[in-house]
Amino acid sequence: MEKDLILSIEDLKVEYRTDDGVVNAVNGLDLVIEKGQTHGLVGETGAGKTTTALSVLDLIQSPPGVIVGGEIKLDGQSIRGLKDRDMEKIRGGEVSMIFQDPMTSLNPVMTIEDQIAEVIRYHQPGDYKDAIAKTHEMLTMVGLPPRRGKEYPHQFSGGMKQRVVIAMALACRPKLLLADEPTTALDVTIQAQVLELMKELKEKYGTSMMMITHDLGVVAEVCDKVSVIYSGRVIEHGNLEDVFDFTRHPYTEGLFNSLPNLQNRTAELKPIKGLMPDPTDLPSGCPFHPRCDYAMDICSKEHPPKVFRNDEHFVECHLYTNNDIKKGGVINRG
Ligand code: SF4
Repeated sequence: MEKDLILSIEDLKVEYRTDDGVVNAVNGLDLVIEKGQTHGLVGETGAGKTTTALSVLDLIQSPPGVIVGGEIKLDGQSIRGLKDRDMEKIRGGEVSMIFQDPMTSLNPVMTIEDQIAEVIRYHQPGDYKDAIAKTHEMLTMVGLPPRRGKEYPHQFSGGMKQRVVIAMALACRPKLLLADEPTTALDVTIQAQVLELMKELKEKYGTSMMMITHDLGVVAEVCDKVSVIYSGRVIEHGNLEDVFDFTRHPYTEGLFNSLPNLQNRTAELKPIKGLMPDPTDLPSGCPFHPRCDYAMDICSKEHPPKVFRNDEHFVECHLYTNNDIKKGGVINRG
């Protein structure tokens, strides 16, 4: 059955041209997000997750950043290379983004309600009074009393500021929400509240979401699909169950092994050895080969093809063929 896609990214390539060389941030990334679903992008810092989200909104700082290739479609329409005016309508209207630190998204010298109302007035018809009424509705929706709209960001705690940012991001009922580590800067208890709120809002409004995170716990909590990113490519993708219970890629296995095991607290943590490769000088073949315990001769010579375990779940890894990946192969978590 044909999937109903809100976002499709095909063969995206993004470079940052710096004095120290060309940083290959995204290297042929493919990704689709289905309507109404939350799609987790997981990987270490520097894997290309944020660059991918910024590319969707054409917010890559240029120079030094340049999208050098690929196609990005929103609800079936190509949005790559749109004129600034058309892109501005999409930003905050059809697609919204939530950043890690809410303070970077809020203006410290404007009241909370004026900031939300400003977004609403830019994208929707109606006067200031209508926008404020809508703003109060949004504040209530994220669990904040509307009277607090008269206050300034510094009068709010970190968790409350992130609620304001979520209210602002959802004010125009975007088709797609790009959430970039939205809970990382918050205390653990507040993180749980904000994730719960995002889940509730997704269920209520059916908003499609890209959830960027390095935290597999966040993925397990809110995502339907997962794409694991390494060196600017999706190296494993599947449903939550595929990736968590039938892990096939050695890098994904490494991410799981580096998590503390609450059932067996004496078990040693096994961090992935080495560091992310230098993006100005990526390794040949499989970019994970210098860190991979399973690396073979072919791994440094040829880039691995996509191998499918089922219609959804695939890995880019030389360990498998389309037949043996179904049986479990080397990494057998299921
Ligand atoms: Fe490891 Fe080779 Fe698979 Fe890359 S292709 S993850 S180096 S086994």
